[in-house]
Amino acid sequence: MSTRPEILFPLFSDLTGLDGIGPKTAQNFENLAVFKPRDLLFTLPHAVIDRQPRSSIQDVTPPTTVTVEVTVGEHTPNKVKGRPYRVTVTDAQTSFQLVYFHVRGDYLNKLLPTGQRRIVSGKIELFDGIGQMVHPDHVLKVGEADTLPEFEPVYPLTAGVTLKTIFKASRDLLRNLVKLDEWIDPGLIAREKWPSWDSALRSAHSPQSLDDISIESRARTRLAYDELLAHQLTLALARAKQRRAKGRPSIATGALQGPVLAELPYKPTGAQSRAIAEIADDLAGDHRMNRLLQGDVGSGKTLVALMALLTVVEAGGQGVMMAPTEILARQHLEGLQPLAEAAGVVLEILTGRDKSAERAAKLDALAKGDIHILVGTHAVFQKDVHFHDLRLAVIDEQHRFGVAQRMELGAKGQTVDVLVMTATPIPRSLALAQYGDMDVSILDEKPPGRTPVQTALVSTERMDQVIDRLRSAIAEGRQAYWVCPLVEESEVSDMTAAEDRFKRLRAALGEGVVGLVHGQMPPREKDAAMARFVAGETKVLVATTVIEVGVNVPNASIMVIERAEFFGLAQLHQLRGRVGRGSTASTCLLLYQSPLSETGRRRLDILRETEDGFRISEEDLAMRGAGDVIGTAQSGLPRFRIADLERQTHLLALAQTDARKLLHDDPKLETDRGKAARTLLWLMEQDKAIRLISVG
Ligand code: ADP
Ligand code: MG
Repeated sequence: MSTRPEILFPLFSDLTGLDGIGPKTAQNFENLAVFKPRDLLFTLPHAVIDRQPRSSIQDVTPPTTVTVEVTVGEHTPNKVKGRPYRVTVTDAQTSFQLVYFHVRGDYLNKLLPTGQRRIVSGKIELFDGIGQMVHPDHVLKVGEADTLPEFEPVYPLTAGVTLKTIFKASRDLLRNLVKLDEWIDPGLIAREKWPSWDSALRSAHSPQSLDDISIESRARTRLAYDELLAHQLTLALARAKQRRAKGRPSIATGALQGPVLAELPYKPTGAQSRAIAEIADDLAGDHRMNRLLQGDVGSGKTLVALMALLTVVEAGGQGVMMAPTEILARQHLEGLQPLAEAAGVVLEILTGRDKSAERAAKLDALAKGDIHILVGTHAVFQKDVHFHDLRLAVIDEQHRFGVAQRMELGAKGQTVDVLVMTATPIPRSLALAQYGDMDVSILDEKPPGRTPVQTALVSTERMDQVIDRLRSAIAEGRQAYWVCPLVEESEVSDMTAAEDRFKRLRAALGEGVVGLVHGQMPPREKDAAMARFVAGETKVLVATTVIEVGVNVPNASIMVIERAEFFGLAQLHQLRGRVGRGSTASTCLLLYQSPLSETGRRRLDILRETEDGFRISEEDLAMRGAGDVIGTAQSGLPRFRIADLERQTHLLALAQTDARKLLHDDPKLETDRGKAARTLLWLMEQDKAIRLISVG
């Protein structure tokens, strides 16, 4: 089945095929991200209005929506322009007024003829002690009562799309809804008492109470699960395809790891040893590795990567490690080269900055296999870079490396094992959503001997005191980072520019003491400034967030972050992770512009309370939402219409297990349930995944 199943055609046809939708309205629907009937089907009401008829408004507490049968009384047209037109009506017990503004012609006389019975529905309010209903939502003849649902679903709206339009179109859709074979595990359905797909949709679109709107209602839970299952199936298919791809078994001999471990001034932590072993297992196996190494800043991911790289070199192959920035790539080179030399391993760097002759020589050496390990920026994956026998690609600190890119790397056709490392601890729910196609190793233990970082909040009004403290810290031989949000004053007028801060600190602390790095600097200058700071020549490094990831200067024990309230928690945590790497007690000062909002303070307080990156990311998620935590656009994180990643983590975990099991039992998706799962993938527009299904 490589084309969309016919049974789904109506859901993927034009919106204009639905009741009450013409070309104009169809266009307006696009603002709601509704392009086809399927999209409308998965756009659920977020509220419900109780329109059950009552006999009187007598006992209601205004303001509230009421539906009541009335006898129409006297009309009082507006005598003065701008004043309302009033119609007195009487229900079983009391009278009240219908109020209209901007009335034209005799429209109201036709709608509400005096002496007749009508059903009116709308919001009752008190005005000068009298009940009134301004512009009723509905006025119906008594015989038309059944056209008004007792519970009216409320949908998200946009200009040119009214509730009535959506209601009518969605009823049309529901009337013609097909039944689909069940793709959810029968045991799960029975245990959770979930309704079938079509009846779940029917009830989600026709809520009878607030409980039915709740994300926990059975209908909605099932529909959310469908989305998550489709997504996890895609990831599981990608994973299965990766694993099917024959890898080259690379078996560690210890010949190179041994000397390197002997050279290290420390022992690997338990978590590092565990991760190293998990990776060695993958490398030795004949399927392709696709593994994520998650570890907080400073948890020692680099050593794990190095051990993995040495394994493939021991087996006669080559490895590559890609860092997101030039600075980090160079730092890896500097940190790893001495270790590599100790084992006679040739390690080189390749970045966009290599001059052509230099570059050609390196490419040549790579192709011959004379370079064993290559570190660099994304330049290492350029088209003309050929390896002699590449077996392992390590991707460092890349939380922006989404599923799509990983699939691309796989599509290059190399049987390369892949290890992605992330320093942004992400909550389990997001890890599942973003990296569900991968196996995961976690470094949940920090190397010993770290002293906790003291974190304090300081108003920018006290900048002078901060600078005084800095002066005495420098006198004691300490070094500090000073992070500014943006480089150009003009970008956002009240943000502190790094260049201005640099000048001010230089004036206060002395020439030659203060360095500056920012993203707009020419690369060589940036390197030189970094090098001076690493060597301890400069004591204070004024920087933009280019230092965010990975930079390691153990003697730096002070981190000042200006306008901390502008940063995300995860980012602040990353920045703070730059200090506390040596044995001296470290300090992190979060400078904020007062007044700080209450949520602003609560956020920053979390950083004072904990240095646990996982806890911080959970809090960040709770306060901001999934898209923001990872940066939705590049995250590779899917947008779900119904599922809520923050509140339905358990469902996601369930979906992952279920998806992997389904594929394990039925790799070609050819059983009845497997076929139903294919339909689900089409329905959820995961068509790409279909191509990943095992063939032959
Ligand atoms: P990250 O996980 O942030 O990439 P790094 O690999 O840069 O962390 O390690 C941070 C620091 O910890 C480095 O200076 C490294 O030499 C040191 N380190 C790594 N593993 C250990 C260990 N087992 N014991 C002591 N120090 C370690
Ligand atoms: Mg690192």
